[in-house]
Amino acid sequence: MATEKRKKKKGNNYLLYTAVALIVVAFAVGGAIIYNVVHINDTDESSAAEESSQPSAADESSESVIAESSTPDESSEVPEESSEPPKKSWAEMNTAERIADYEERVGVKYAIDMTDYEAYVCPDDEAKYVFLVDPVHTLGSDYVPEDLIKCTHIREGRPDSYNKIVRTVDIALDAFLKEAAYYGFDNITVTNVYRSYRTQDWLFNYYVDQEWNSGKFKTKEEAIAEVLTYSTRPGTSEHQSGLCCDMHNVDISTPRKFNGTPAATWMEENAYRFGFILRYPDGKQDITGIIYESWHFRYVGRTAATEIHDLGVTLDEYLADERA
Ligand SMILES: [Zn+2]
Repeated sequence: MATEKRKKKKGNNYLLYTAVALIVVAFAVGGAIIYNVVHINDTDESSAAEESSQPSAADESSESVIAESSTPDESSEVPEESSEPPKKSWAEMNTAERIADYEERVGVKYAIDMTDYEAYVCPDDEAKYVFLVDPVHTLGSDYVPEDLIKCTHIREGRPDSYNKIVRTVDIALDAFLKEAAYYGFDNITVTNVYRSYRTQDWLFNYYVDQEWNSGKFKTKEEAIAEVLTYSTRPGTSEHQSGLCCDMHNVDISTPRKFNGTPAATWMEENAYRFGFILRYPDGKQDITGIIYESWHFRYVGRTAATEIHDLGVTLDEYLADERA
């Protein structure tokens, strides 16, 4: 009986244990389900929130990143734009502004005060000075330039028929030679400027006779061909334009001695800043038709002179390109 009772009691215990275990399991499973549901909802919510909020958060953060990174740029750009007024056009600039603008553009400052020269070095009508005079582009026998005056820097003793120059060119030339003097080249004078058609006619024939009488040539045509390498027939000389000058610091009869001197080099390198070009550069005879003349400078105005300088071309090539 006792064992039966014990067995019975044991059986009751088992039932109790099983019931408790079932309840525990039920709670555990239920809890897990509830937890999962809640958790899944949480992640759904948070991911949904992330999906909906992330872009805006990302926008905000990228905006703030852009704002942060662009703020210094903007702050460095904006004041520059706002503090520096829009660049004035050339027509709107006063003389000082034009000089400063040009100096900045070419990266070279004038040593002399250009205030009184600017309007002549770079006149508003400077395009009218840019043209060729050569065997193809001739000047008529009656062509005389306007506004001829006695050249300020003419060498002493030059006759009246050899000392005239166009006024604008004379003033620009004064600036050029004052700057040259500042750099130590203070003894350069002008030997030839405007020559009339008649004077050129006389001069050309004088040179032809001189060559022919030298006995170096078999025919007069050969003598003329030689003269044409350093002089020109009437109507084809730049000197008739009144826009050019021969200038150097050597004897008037031997200008070639000026070639290669420090003064000649400085003059050739700086002419453009005063509206001049070396018209017949070294090594360009096949283009210009004239030998290297380190002393012959032609006024074309600073805009064209600077372009010609920057391009490293002759006036012939510069105008050929413009016509093309
Ligand atoms: Zn000349």
